Parts: sequence; structure tokens; C-alpha cells
Amino acid sequence: MKIVDVRSYTLKSPLGDQGFYASQESFSERSSCLVRIETDTGLVGWGEGGLWGAPEPVAAMIDHVLTPRIIGHNPLHMDVIWERLYAHIRDWGRQGTAVEAISGVDIACWDIAGQALQQPIHALLGGAYRDRVQSYATGGYYKGGPERWADTGLLKEEVARHLDNGFRALKIKVGLLSVAEDLARVKAARQVLDECAPSGTRFPYMVDANHAYPPHIAITVGRGLEEEGVLWFEEPVIPEDRKGYRQVAETLDVAIAAGECEHTRYCFRDLILDGCIDIAQPDICGTGGISEAVKIATLARTFGVQVIPHVWGSGIALAAALHFIASLPPSPHSANPLPALNEPMLEFDRNPNPLRDTLLRDPIALEDDGTVRIPQGPGLGISVDEDVVAQFGPK
Ligand code: CA
Repeated sequence: MKIVDVRSYTLKSPLGDQGFYASQESFSERSSCLVRIETDTGLVGWGEGGLWGAPEPVAAMIDHVLTPRIIGHNPLHMDVIWERLYAHIRDWGRQGTAVEAISGVDIACWDIAGQALQQPIHALLGGAYRDRVQSYATGGYYKGGPERWADTGLLKEEVARHLDNGFRALKIKVGLLSVAEDLARVKAARQVLDECAPSGTRFPYMVDANHAYPPHIAITVGRGLEEEGVLWFEEPVIPEDRKGYRQVAETLDVAIAAGECEHTRYCFRDLILDGCIDIAQPDICGTGGISEAVKIATLARTFGVQVIPHVWGSGIALAAALHFIASLPPSPHSANPLPALNEPMLEFDRNPNPLRDTLLRDPIALEDDGTVRIPQGPGLGISVDEDVVAQFGPK
């Protein structure tokens, strides 16, 4: 089997008055770079490359740099393709766009491999440990104008909505406001979670700063999070500051999570060996695809670091993450695996995104008990609606 055609697609969906803020950015649109690979046997695989930045540079990298190097190659030889592409971009593209582009190509190759062998990707990864996974709602962004960012009433309404929809775990944002205002938001969301949790239990609750703080402020915030029983503190400091990460991790009791800004096993090696994180969060569409995420997961587990991937993007990104999650063993092993304790969870973004909700003919959805089913069809186990690709593609 040979790759005969590679196409990239840049999809965009403006959010209008549904835009939102995290600590670093306003989000005024949702976007994805998709890649479609066709083989001489007629099989077609889909992938996605990139997290939230402009999709055009990723598409250009696929079109001009990667495509000429994979046409004519066997898509089942994912490792050979990956290493050759990475060797080509190593001198100038070890992080960022180039690796995001490789991620999309890699996912599409896995999709083809699964279809060729009539197996879901998780079966090709060695088998599934679960057929569904507990998901957590990623929400609690800053909405409305600046005058509403600190409005805990608005946040409480949103949290109640996620719980009504079946979620049993939640992550919210901090880092845009003063420490006092953000800790008030953390406390407000916790109250709603506790009111809805069965007596004597607490729902997993996580907080994400998107690297908003210098280390000494991160420690102050982290102590506030510990008072609210927060499970992990995500991206407390900038990814470049390994020493700051270590200082925060060593000082605080709350688990430190990071990884969505990191590319390839080499970045994760440094985070792990430097004692920066308790939980690694590789993003399949950013860190190098399924092939690289599997290597990162093995590396992390070897050093006692848990793996709970970062997920953003379209339904393709969600499906790729679900196959990867299915293949992660409980860590450490337990006769009674429990979400967040030794079981992975699925990050399920709850911000508006039609590319997540409409791109797949059978969209990935939340079950009543807060879990999401792992796709069981061949490859990614999805059917991409090419009418939707055209709808959100360049006009
Ligand atoms: Ca995050």
C-alpha cells in the first residue's frame, strides 16, 4: 500500500458574541487543520494537526514540507515515516508548527492502518483497558465583557449546567484576574460541585492557569487551591521555566500537571527528569501524533508520572485521544481502577465548537453517567462529513 494523495484543510468557525478568554488570549473563533491521506488501495485516513493557533502554517508545513516526503510510502510504516519527517525538521522545527503537522500526518496513517487491518487503533496499540472513560468538563473560561469576568454567579450557572448534562468532574480557568478574585471563582465552582456530589464524596476538580504566574505567585495560588481540594494545578508557570516548575512542584502538595505546550518525547523527558510534573498532558495533535504520545506515555509511567492527555480541537482530535486513552493501563495497577486516582480521564472541552460537534457523522457524545465511549470501528472509528469540511473550509 502506498500514499498517493495528501490534502490539508484549514477550517474556521467565528464565535461571534460567544467568544471567551483564558489567561493568555481571547478566543474569537475555533479552527482546525485537518489532513486527509489517500492510498492506492482507495483507503482514506484523517488526522488533525495543531491546538488552537492559526491552522494555515500547519497546513503549509504539510503541503510544502511533509507531503513530498511521504508520497509513495507505506502508511503502515508509521515509525519510519515519523522518524524520517522529524529528522528532516530537527534543525529548525523541533517544537511548534512542524511537529503539529507531523502529528496530523501520523494520526491519518494510524487511521489507515486500522482500516487496512479492520481493527480500531486501540487494538493496534496493544489492546484497550476500557471501553469507556470518565470525562471531565473543561469550562469556567472568562465570558462576557471584562466587567463580568469576576462574576461568580455566571460561573456557578455554567458549572450547574455541566453537572446537569452528566459531567462528574470539572476544570476551570484562573490567571486572568487578581489572585483574590480568581480564588473566589475557584471556591464558587467548588460549592456547586459539592452541592451536587453524593454525600461524603467530592467530584474531581482541576484548575488551569495557562502559565499565568511567576513561581512565587503560583505557590500562593496553589495553597488556595489546596484548601479547595483541587486535584491538579495545570500549567502554573511558563513552560520555559523548568526551575520555576520544580520550585512550585516541590513546595505544593497539589499535583502539578502540564504538557499541552510540549512537543515530542524530548520535551517530556526534560519535564519529567527535572521533577516538574506529577501528571503529563501530551496533546495528540500537537506533540507528535499517536506514535509519539505512546512513547511519551511509556516514558512518563516509567518515572511514576501519570498521563491524562490534553484535548482540544475537532471530533478527529477527540477520537484520536480516545484511542490513546483506551490503550493506557491503570497507573499504578489497581483491582478497582478509579478515575483520577489511577485511571485516565478524557478532557471534554465545553466551549462552543461546531468543528467538534458536527464534523463527524456520529459525533462523540457524553453518556448519562459522565463517561464517553471509545470508538470501536476500524481505524479512528469515525466518519468525517466532507460537506462540513467544505462548509468551514476556505471560501
Ligand atoms: Ca490547559
